[in-house]
Amino acid sequence: AVAVRDLHKRYGEVEVLRGVDLDVAAGETVCVIGRSGSGKSTLLKCMNLLEPPTAGEIRLGGDLITDPGVDVDAVRTRVGMVFQHFNLFPHLSVLHNVTVALRKVRRMGRETADTAAMTQLERLGLAGLAHSRPSQLSGGQQQRVAIARALAMEPEVMLFDEATSALDPELVKDVLDVMRLLATSGMTMIAVTHEIGFAREVADRVIFMDEGRIAESGPARRTLEHPETARLREFLARVL
Ligand code: ATP
Ligand code: MG
Repeated sequence: AVAVRDLHKRYGEVEVLRGVDLDVAAGETVCVIGRSGSGKSTLLKCMNLLEPPTAGEIRLGGDLITDPGVDVDAVRTRVGMVFQHFNLFPHLSVLHNVTVALRKVRRMGRETADTAAMTQLERLGLAGLAHSRPSQLSGGQQQRVAIARALAMEPEVMLFDEATSALDPELVKDVLDVMRLLATSGMTMIAVTHEIGFAREVADRVIFMDEGRIAESGPARRTLEHPETARLREFLARVL
């Protein structure tokens, strides 16, 4: 579904991604781990074209999305992204938050958009909150709305960047449960996470980023329980 080839990203003098190669198959869940500053968020932002890569290629379902002539908005509808902070519109209802992009970008009529949104809200256990404002929801509920909003666009891939890091500990589980549901229902997912237990259980594959490169990758359990590189061993010793 996604193929990244020799991806480089530079901010001024600093090369943040230094040649990343990554293939994610349809239906696969990949968790990305690594130290702060290793380039995890930058990698996801390049995949969503929130940041233009300096060099290299990214293909999505065979389409070269790093081509200069590409329709960025069209790519973004195909790549859903969920951040640490939920970025919901505070003045809109939950339902309206989910339908905005469906109506503006997918050009759905109101009823079609409402139906599509309710389907996702129901799936994530949020139907009863459709007419609430984000401020009336817990952080975990708000994050699930953000996920529902991304899913409503029917993306080919979902990217999660530390989707649970800003949540109170007791709310983390609800969001991880939703991510697990998506993973087991065949969604293609790339999730940056500090939740090593989640990665071990849910990911098909774990990739460890270090100084802008993939320093180690492999099946989740083997990679996390028997790391091959000293860098990953040190990292895991620090976070576990
Ligand atoms: P964290 O775990 O803290 O989220 P990360 O692995 O996601 O870290 P990135 O956010 O990808 O790391 O950042 C990698 C490096 O790129 C860091 O040194 C950061 O300071 C730098 N960087 C990121 N965004 C920019 C930017 N817009 N301009 C300049 N430098 C940036
Ligand atoms: Mg980050």
